[in-house]
Amino acid sequence: MAEVTEQQILDALKRVVDTERDEDIVALGMVKGLQIKGGHVAVAIEVDAQRGPKMEPMRKQAEKVVHGLPGVVSATVVLTAERKGGNGGQPAGQPARPQGQAHAPGHGHGHAQPELLPGVRSIIAVASGKGGVGKSTVAVNLALALAAIGRKVGILDSDIYGPSMPRMMGIVGQPSSRDGKPLDALENFGVKCMSIGFMVDEESPIIWRGPMVQSAIEQMMRDVHWGDLDVMVVDMPPGTGDAQLTLAQKVPLTGAVIVSTPQDIALLDARKGLNMFRKVDVPVFGIVENMSYFNCPKCGHRTEIFSHGGAHKEADRLGVDFLGEIPLDIAIRETSDSGQPIVVARPDSAHAKAYLAIAQRVWDKIERLTAAEAQAAGPRIVVQ
Ligand code: ADP
Repeated sequence: MAEVTEQQILDALKRVVDTERDEDIVALGMVKGLQIKGGHVAVAIEVDAQRGPKMEPMRKQAEKVVHGLPGVVSATVVLTAERKGGNGGQPAGQPARPQGQAHAPGHGHGHAQPELLPGVRSIIAVASGKGGVGKSTVAVNLALALAAIGRKVGILDSDIYGPSMPRMMGIVGQPSSRDGKPLDALENFGVKCMSIGFMVDEESPIIWRGPMVQSAIEQMMRDVHWGDLDVMVVDMPPGTGDAQLTLAQKVPLTGAVIVSTPQDIALLDARKGLNMFRKVDVPVFGIVENMSYFNCPKCGHRTEIFSHGGAHKEADRLGVDFLGEIPLDIAIRETSDSGQPIVVARPDSAHAKAYLAIAQRVWDKIERLTAAEAQAAGPRIVVQ
């Protein structure tokens, strides 16, 4: 089928009217970002920040008309607003979480919204204070290690700045849909995968704002067949800005894993990540120190380039667990860059074992939290 064109999408969007102004959104110049990638369409509609919450029906309608076009596999329409003074620092269209409304540990509980992922038992975020620390590499190896210890796992790549999961997971192609039904997540090494890289073109980046990321993530959760999973690993966008905060706030996270390098710890970037999750009451499972020391591939000599062990000490000081350390080793880069992460490529290697130990610690924490939650909820009485 021929790929849908930008003009066809704009023509369809002319049917969407801003009722307060009685004119269509294309004529009003509200359509800002439009991207097409292999039948996946992403559109940003700019709205006045104050009107954000009232615009949801319009957003939904826009999504429907775009989705209805031939050749469209998925449609993501997001609302965006220029941040102006007096917006209270909130991303557009996002009411602040009321004081005291915490994330209950475990999935979906304590949320007024319908469950996004009914078959998913737990969701963990892999986050970092800044980019380039190896967060995605930890996320993919952690997901594969959780699968290796017998769990059913999915990985959701929400790293808007560099969606690397398709490459690292060795996945080529696009998610497809059977007759308008939700998309099927792609799968490799027994792990299901969805990536923001499937939905937008890395070549023409749009400016992501918190609510837009949230909308795209919600779509990857709600409109995708994930099936039953013990755990979904979410590769977060690096950093601690609006987009990350909105995600941490809105996705029912069971817990978070912070990845940092020794120098990142020293520069306090990791601490920002930690504070972000604490602010929104998501339990931090602990810190993984990546590029902890250097293993010379030629002589096997171990060099501690950055003062090794800093993360462990800092974790103790901050009152979070230290989950493990991963060395800087070319084998880790080469295997993930070639779509065969080390946990599957060399499962008996010391590095794979380090990821497996981290995965076991993370899984123990998930189990402990979900058990405590089940106990707090008491016996379930089902009335039919
Ligand atoms: P982030 O998600 O934090 O931006 P990535 O996981 O994409 O970082 O890693 C950045 C680069 O560093 C990639 O090329 C990756 O292969 C490499 N890398 C990550 N961790 C290691 C490691 N422990 N040893 C060697 N290279 C690594």
